[in-house]
Amino acid sequence: MILLDRVTKQYGRVGTPALDRVSLHIEPKEFVIIIGASGAGKSTLLKLLTREEKPTGGKIIVGGIDYEQLKDRDIPLLRRKIGVVFQDFKLLPNKNVFENVSFALEIVGTSKSEIEHTIPKVLDIVGLKGKEKSMPSELSGGERQRVAIARAVVRQPKILMADEPTGNLDPKNAWDVIRVLEKINRYGTTVMLTTHNQEIVNKLKRRVITIKDGKVVSDRANAEYKVA
Ligand code: ADP
Repeated sequence: MILLDRVTKQYGRVGTPALDRVSLHIEPKEFVIIIGASGAGKSTLLKLLTREEKPTGGKIIVGGIDYEQLKDRDIPLLRRKIGVVFQDFKLLPNKNVFENVSFALEIVGTSKSEIEHTIPKVLDIVGLKGKEKSMPSELSGGERQRVAIARAVVRQPKILMADEPTGNLDPKNAWDVIRVLEKINRYGTTVMLTTHNQEIVNKLKRRVITIKDGKVVSDRANAEYKVA
C-alpha cells in the first residue's frame, strides 16, 4: 500500500512547492496512471516514493514503511521493493540484454545459478526471449524499454514506477510496452505510470490521478484523459 498524507515538496527556499499537500492512497496491485502538464509534479512524486528526494512536509508510508523512520541503511531495501523505468531507458550501452538485466541481480549478490535460472523467465515475460546477446544499439526503442522493464522487475518489486516510458516510442512500440506493464500488473505488481499519451490513457480505462501545479485536482476510476 502506498499512502501519502498531505505531502509537500519545496525544492528551494522560496517559490511555489513542486508538490503541495498531496494525499493519495494506492492499494496493492493497482494500476494507476498519473497525468499532468510538464512541471506539474509527477516526477517529484515518484522521486519522493523512491527516496531520491525527501518531502518538506507530510507523511509517506509504503508497504508499511514510514519514511520518517527510514534510516539511510534501509534505503537499498526500500529500493528493492520499487522498480523504476524512465523515458530514456538508461541501459548500459556496453552490456548485452542478458547482462543489463543480470547486473541488477549481481549487485545484490544473487548466485550465478539463480541468475541463469531467473533471466530467461523475465525476458520471456517482456517478450525478449532470444535477444539475450543483442546489444542495446541493435534493438528498437520499444525493445530497449522492455529490457529496462525486465531489469526493473527482475528482483520482483512490489511496485513498478514507469515515468513516461513511452515518451520516445512510436505507437506500436508504445503499446508493446504498455501491454508488458499490464502483464506485470496482472502478476501482482502495483504499477504507477506517468504519461502524456491521451490514447493510451483512454484505452487503458484505469484509475487516473491528475496533478496540476503540485496538487491532485482529480482522481477517478476508469477514467479518460481530460486536461485539468
Ligand atoms: P513533471 O514530472 O510533472 O514534469 P516535476 O516533478 O519534474 O514535474 O517538476 C515539478 C516542479 O518542480 C517544476 O516546477 C520543476 O521545475 C521543479 N523541480 C523539479 N525538480 C527540481 C529540482 N531538482 N530542483 C528545483 N526544482 C525542481
